[in-house]
Amino acid sequence: MADRKPLIAGNWKMNLNRNESVKLVRAIAESISDLAETEVLVSPPFTTLSVVKEAIGAAKIYLAGQNMHWETAGAYTGEVSPAMLVETGCTHVILGHSERRSLFMETDEMIDRKAKAAVGMGLVPIICIGETLEERDKGETFQVVRRQLELSLRNFREQKTMPPSTILAYEPVWAIGTGRTATPQQAQEVHQFIRQWLNEHFGSPAAEQIRVLYGGSVKPENAKELMAMPDIDGALVGGASLKAETFIRIIRFHEA
Ligand code: PEP
Repeated sequence: MADRKPLIAGNWKMNLNRNESVKLVRAIAESISDLAETEVLVSPPFTTLSVVKEAIGAAKIYLAGQNMHWETAGAYTGEVSPAMLVETGCTHVILGHSERRSLFMETDEMIDRKAKAAVGMGLVPIICIGETLEERDKGETFQVVRRQLELSLRNFREQKTMPPSTILAYEPVWAIGTGRTATPQQAQEVHQFIRQWLNEHFGSPAAEQIRVLYGGSVKPENAKELMAMPDIDGALVGGASLKAETFIRIIRFHEA
């Protein structure tokens, strides 16, 4: 395996007020001061990005937006631009989370435009893909994942190049917030498929460098065995990222 440094990313979704956010990120910062083998990222709601950035200070914690528009500016009420995220201190942005897809009707085509805009602005996109339970039960997992890859990475495909810093997150919808985790083998199977797809489209060096995170009910109890899989390069964590104690245990999965 290439030396892909594991990334543990916390998606706070629509949770935590300013005080809670600052307290949480300070606790994370304190706990990782001696940590070199894993990268850490938090993704608070837009309203607390600034205070979280300030609280991060010199700690090695990346900051991500949970979404953005692809346009630079204009009449898009309720949206934020890539430049606004950068100005607030974000280095990354989560795109195409299944909640954005299912609750806010985001399509692969929109995610493709957002990914292009993110890279254009110097942001690292974390692009989420994953099948529903119905699709898995019908045996359509690989077909769905391939379709999402083809469409949401269309621009990169056409350019025949994708920045190796790009991050993909395989998040089976049936495992998000349900307490039902994919087994390490189930996850590895799809991660391997994704890596092969990357290899076919962008060649071996890029495919070996691009990190593919797993997301879906990751907890301190299952993090180590998931991370032990050769094609799982970290985790996108929802619920368990809201408490310092559980998130820190996931970050320090190798010590479990
Ligand atoms: C997520 O929302 O990205 C996620 C993986 O949530 P949870 O960890 O709560 O399943």
